[in-house]
Formats: sequence, structure tokens, C-alpha cells
Amino acid sequence: KKEEQEEEIKIVQIPEIVTVRELAELLRVPPNVVMAELLKKGVLATINQTVPSEVALQVAEALGFLAEIKKQEEETLEEEIPDHWEKLPRPPIVVVMGHVDHGKTTLLDTIRKTNVAEREKGGITQHIGASVVQLPDGRKITFLDTPGHEAFTSLRARGAQITDIAVLVVAADDGVMPQTVEAINHARAFNVPIIVAVNKIDKPGADPQRVRRELSELGLIPEEWGGDTIFVDVSAKTGQNVEALLEYILLLAEILELKARVEGPAKGTVIESKLDKQRGPVATLIVQEGTLKVGDPVVAGTSYGRIRAMFDDKGRKLNSAGPSTPVEVLGFEELPMAGDTFIVVEDEKKARQIAEIRKQKKEQQEKLSRGLMLEDVFKKIEEGELNELRLILKTDTIGSLEALKKALTELSTPEVSVRILHGAVGGITENDVMLAKASQAIIIGFNTRPDLKAKETAEREKVDIKLYSIIYEAIEDVKNALRGLLKPVQKEVVLGSAEVRATFKIKGVGTVAGCYVLDGKIVRNANARLIRDGVVIYTGKIESLKRFKEDVQEVAKGFECGVKLKDYNDVKVGDIIECYEVKLEKPSL
Ligand code: GDP
Repeated sequence: KKEEQEEEIKIVQIPEIVTVRELAELLRVPPNVVMAELLKKGVLATINQTVPSEVALQVAEALGFLAEIKKQEEETLEEEIPDHWEKLPRPPIVVVMGHVDHGKTTLLDTIRKTNVAEREKGGITQHIGASVVQLPDGRKITFLDTPGHEAFTSLRARGAQITDIAVLVVAADDGVMPQTVEAINHARAFNVPIIVAVNKIDKPGADPQRVRRELSELGLIPEEWGGDTIFVDVSAKTGQNVEALLEYILLLAEILELKARVEGPAKGTVIESKLDKQRGPVATLIVQEGTLKVGDPVVAGTSYGRIRAMFDDKGRKLNSAGPSTPVEVLGFEELPMAGDTFIVVEDEKKARQIAEIRKQKKEQQEKLSRGLMLEDVFKKIEEGELNELRLILKTDTIGSLEALKKALTELSTPEVSVRILHGAVGGITENDVMLAKASQAIIIGFNTRPDLKAKETAEREKVDIKLYSIIYEAIEDVKNALRGLLKPVQKEVVLGSAEVRATFKIKGVGTVAGCYVLDGKIVRNANARLIRDGVVIYTGKIESLKRFKEDVQEVAKGFECGVKLKDYNDVKVGDIIECYEVKLEKPSL
């Protein structure tokens, strides 16, 4: 009889984000009834407006429902994209890097002009953040328009991974310069392969062999010397060998086997965005998987919308865009941010829901989010989030740089490695901070200081900068952080055990075991295993623990309690429930 009564109760799960219309459907009443209830609570809402979840809860209860908020994970909203689609070769996405004045901009311009096939078709190059170069035989390369590793690293700092290949421009009359080294280190930090374009070979003082020698010392050994780095001698000014460079880029792309799914919903990255007075939010997206079409509902970061119109880098209208294609799109409700990933979803409602949930999460995270702090290293490792300590070193002299590099790298152990992402003489710059942010690294300054911009960026992005003037102290600090990096040992501690003396099937809950605590204590939410005839038949958690009707935290030896095991209902009289906790112990060095 009692069971029948329980069935009378109307239970409803309300999504975190719900509109008046959706709430009315859930509660099986006309929308105006919900609106009236809302008015009673002082909330004036139209049918398509979202209702704050606490208010939705109250409305449901007022209408006789037992309601709870269903936490919606954005993962469950984003559909699994079926993987039956074939992956096909896609054009490489390339960034041009190098020291200032070595010819990055000129090279990009020349490459675009080499683009004969496109010129015939008409269309004027637009600056949308990336451009596509098509060779006469139809093969394509996508170039990011902003040269330099700064743009590349700041996209990376936002989690975007778009670049396949870096073209390192080194002027043959100037050789390796500080930003050349920085560019190499930035590319290496993210495992982006490098092709070297030795530029300005038309100049009288050009010495391409010197560039090869200098880069070899940095580990970029030319193929003709038995290494694996492609070097191409070019003149961005005269165009000499630029086509050969493009061929080599495509060759490397082939070796890298760059592939993407062409069919199915699009995914990719926002590389630029701006607010246009006439057109509203305008974003440049690079499609990385699938095909983006006009009309597609899309979410990018915390903004969403529907693709209203799409243009390529020549300003031509498109209806669809496949992998590696940069497109300028209209239709976002708000401005997405460069570096945000975008996905196409089933409908606009879903897009809005995902955006809303992300917004809420972001607000929560913003309070917590920060870069890696040296003090956190220990904890991060305990939580299994880190097994490599990345450092950026800036020092006053080459001597101290080499000494620190050596001493710090030697602190590596088989379990933990210390990796110097970038080391150079000079002050700490904004680039260093962006690299640290993008790669979760810590900056160590020895007798150097951050400049004002670097300081501000570090504060904003919460990047840890440690300043030292005694080498020994720097080494000690890192060593101490590394002690935590050693994998802690997991140790199990049994808390107690209980015998099952009766079982109860409870509607909507499952089987609850009536137990007697034999020794120690049974603790709510602790790990538990079920032992039958000496054999462990279940491992999981104590989901709920009651003494009589009351929820309790723990029950001690000699007392009775009701135990519900998480996701398990097959408990039998005579079973033993053992409750334990896992402790992480610091290993001794
Ligand atoms: P960026 O700072 O790396 O983007 O360098 P730019 O593309 O602005 O080039 C810097 C200067 O070098 C400009 O005056 C260019 O005209 C010149 N330059 C670039 N490439 C070449 C080249 O191949 N040969 C010669 N002679 N000059 C070049």
C-alpha cells in the first residue's frame, strides 16, 4: 500500500537552464499557469525567457511537484560525433615566425601574390586573420596572417591548437637573433615542426651557410647535413625560390599526414573577432573538422548563434567551408574570443544552453583560475595533473644562464622531468609570460626583472614569476617543489566493517542494507567494498548512511545503520561491507 502512495508523488527534474515554455511542458500545465506562479514570486517573464533555477524549483513545488535541479553537464549536451566518417588529407595551417625585420611580412605578401590561380578568379584579399594560398595544381596552404610567435602563443594560451607548421624566417645577412631563438622555443614548446626559410639571399652580404651553422647549434640541423630540418634559401623581395618553399611546406604536410573529417558537424577555432557597426559581431573561424554551413547553429566559448553568412579570405560569399578553411562569419549573438573553440550543434536552443552553462562555469572558474604557482607544483602532482616541471629562464649573463640550465635540468628524476622551455639573457617580457601561461610554465628570473607590461600580464594571467639573485636559492626552491613531483604512494586505511542483517527495497532509491557495525566505523561517502564468502564482489562508495530516519556522517562499532551502496542493489543478508580510505603518502627522498 505504501508503494502506491509513493507513486502519487509527482517527481520532476528541472534542467539548470529552462525557459517558461519548457518548464510548463515539464509540469504539464499551460505556460500562462507558470507565468502566473512566477508573478506571485515577483518574476515577470515572457514565454521564451529563462527562469532562474531556484525560482523554477519553487514554481514546481507550488504546483505539487517534488522537484530537483538536474545538473546539466555541457558534455552531455554536446553530442558524440559519430566516427564512421572517413578522414581525408587537409591543407596545412602555417604560421610565419622570426626576428623583427627578417622579412616575415614581405614573405607572406609575396606568397599571396604567387597565388596566380586565385588572382584569375578575381576577389580581393581581405584581412580576415588567415588566408589560403592555392597552387596551380589545386593544393592549398592556409597561412595565419599575423606573423610572429606572439599571436601564435596567445592563441595557444587560450587553449587553441591550430598551427601545424612554423616557417622560421632568418635573414641571411643577419643570422640568428634573440627573437629567432624565442620563436624556436615557442614552436618547440608546442611540438610544432619548423621549416627554415633563409631569407634575403639576394642581398650582397647574404651568408646562408652561416645561418645553417648557427641554427645547427640550436638543434635545427639541415637535411643536407644529415639532420631532419628543411632549409630553403629564398628572397621574399624578388620571389626567388618562394614556390619551392611552398612545395616543401606541402611535402612536410604530407609527411605529417594531416587529416580531418570532411563530413558531419564542424568544429574549429575562432582566430579573430570584432564588432562591426553594421554587421554586428564578426568572427573569423578556422574549420578543423567537418564542414561548416550557412544556417548552422554554433557555440564558441560562451557565445552562440546561427551562421547567417560566410565569406572567404577573398571576400567571396560561401555556403560551406571544409577543414583548414578560414572563414569570416556573421550570426553570433555576442562576440566570441580569439582562441575559443567552436562547435556546430543540433539546434540553436542547445547552442544557447551550452553557452549559458559555460558562462556559469567560467564565472566560477574565474575566481579560481590561475597559472601554475611554484607552491602548487606539489599539489598538482598529487592530483596527477603534472609530471613535468616547465621553466622559462631569464638571466643577466650567458654564464648564469648556462649554470642555471645545467643545475636545474639535473634535478630531473626518472619520475619527474625539468624542462627548460626557453632560456635567454635579458629582462622578462610579455612574450615570456604568454609562453608560461600557454604551457603552464614558471618563469625564473636571475638578476633580471619583468618589464611593466610583463608584470601586468603576469598579474592578470596569474603567471608565477620567481626572482632570484643567488643561484643556490633558485635551485633549492625548484628542488623543494620537485619533492612533491615525485609520485606519492597510495596507501589504504580500513575504517571499519559492518555485517548486513536485513535488506529493504525502497522505491526510487534501490536496495538499502540494514547493517550492524562490527568494528571501527562506517563513514558516509567513503570507499566501500562488499565481501561475500570472503570474495570482494563490489567496489565503490557508500552513497548514503542513515541511523533510523536521519542522515548521518558516520556510525560507530556496535550500532545499527542503513547503508546504500552507490550503483549497487544486489546486497544480501550475511554480506560484509568494508569501508576504507585511500591516503597519499609523501615518498621520502
Ligand atoms: P618583418 O619585421 O619580419 O615582418 O620584416 P619585413 O617583411 O617588414 O621586412 C623588413 C625589411 O626587409 C623590409 O624593408 C623589406 O623590404 C626587407 N626585405 C624583406 N625580405 C627581403 C628580401 O628577401 N631581400 C631583401 N633585399 N630585402 C628584404
